[in-house]
Amino acid sequence: MKKAGIALLVLALSANAVFAGGGQQGGSGGQPTIGVAIYKFDDTFMSYTRNAIENNAKGKAVVTTVDSQNAQPTQNDQVDQFISKKLNSIAINPVDRTAAGAIIDKAKAGNVPVVFFNREPFAEDMAKWDKVYYVGAKAEESGTMQGEIVAEYFKANPGADKNGDGVIQYIMLKGEPGHQDAELRTEFSVKAIIAAGLKVQLLAEDTAMWDRPRAVEKMDAFYARFGDQIEVVLCNNDDMALGVVESLRNAGFFTGGKYLPVVGVDATAPALQALSEGTLLGTVLNDAQNQGKATFDVAYALATGAAVSSTSWTLTNGKYIWVPYQKVTKDNYKNFQ
Ligand code: BGC
Repeated sequence: MKKAGIALLVLALSANAVFAGGGQQGGSGGQPTIGVAIYKFDDTFMSYTRNAIENNAKGKAVVTTVDSQNAQPTQNDQVDQFISKKLNSIAINPVDRTAAGAIIDKAKAGNVPVVFFNREPFAEDMAKWDKVYYVGAKAEESGTMQGEIVAEYFKANPGADKNGDGVIQYIMLKGEPGHQDAELRTEFSVKAIIAAGLKVQLLAEDTAMWDRPRAVEKMDAFYARFGDQIEVVLCNNDDMALGVVESLRNAGFFTGGKYLPVVGVDATAPALQALSEGTLLGTVLNDAQNQGKATFDVAYALATGAAVSSTSWTLTNGKYIWVPYQKVTKDNYKNFQ
């Protein structure tokens, strides 16, 4: 009995020592430990963000990055493990942003601070705890810039209104329904074209889930249905825009003067390449480098008990870091390569 009692006491003491700092300084040389969950590794933009997080962590923190494989239950288990291991902080790119509330409840119960990124939780969930932050970009800004690129093109090229009816007939390819970037880019791109004094008519809108192969399929079908009625294709991201370009190329575009303007968002390397080749009309830089750096900086501050306001990032409403977008066209794409 006595021995068992001592053993229990030793266990309790060592547990205390581990938890005293708000978590386990498990890393080499006492570096803080940070868990990162990405909605799926197989997403071009998220792979850029992930690399930026990991590069910024070098020599400063021990980062464990996991692939949630586009399944919220998988991510929930991964978050549970991060919390039960008492990592010092976690950075979450949710599969389903409506799941953030439950994640926050668990993180709060385990006292593991959290920074979300790229997929914005609802404001009421963000308000649940003071140790919750968000790093992202204002989706409406990217939509507006995309719409401005399209409006500038139509003003400079009146012949782009192929049937001369004074109305731009367009196709909209959306990212995942419910994702703030999909909804707001769709809305604000069109608003910006209208705000520039142009008229628009939607021929068709569909989701290709941010995905290039799906966009090829969708565009094949749109072209079969609408043919040369289509005057521009707006895509919520570059992977889908490149899928559209591929589909159009197969239909004989981009040679012999046959052209259709296509725009995306992200400014990925293949998109910049397409800009240089003249197939993509324009894109908008979704700044993965700075979003990844800000995510790491916040996670690191949280992990080490420093104030997030002491990082170099501007905090909005005490919880949000917004990384600006930038327009990218054939005139300036070289600056982003
Ligand atoms: C990017 C998309 C990406 C998505 C993932 C968006 O901000 O523009 O390319 O697939 O985030 O959540």
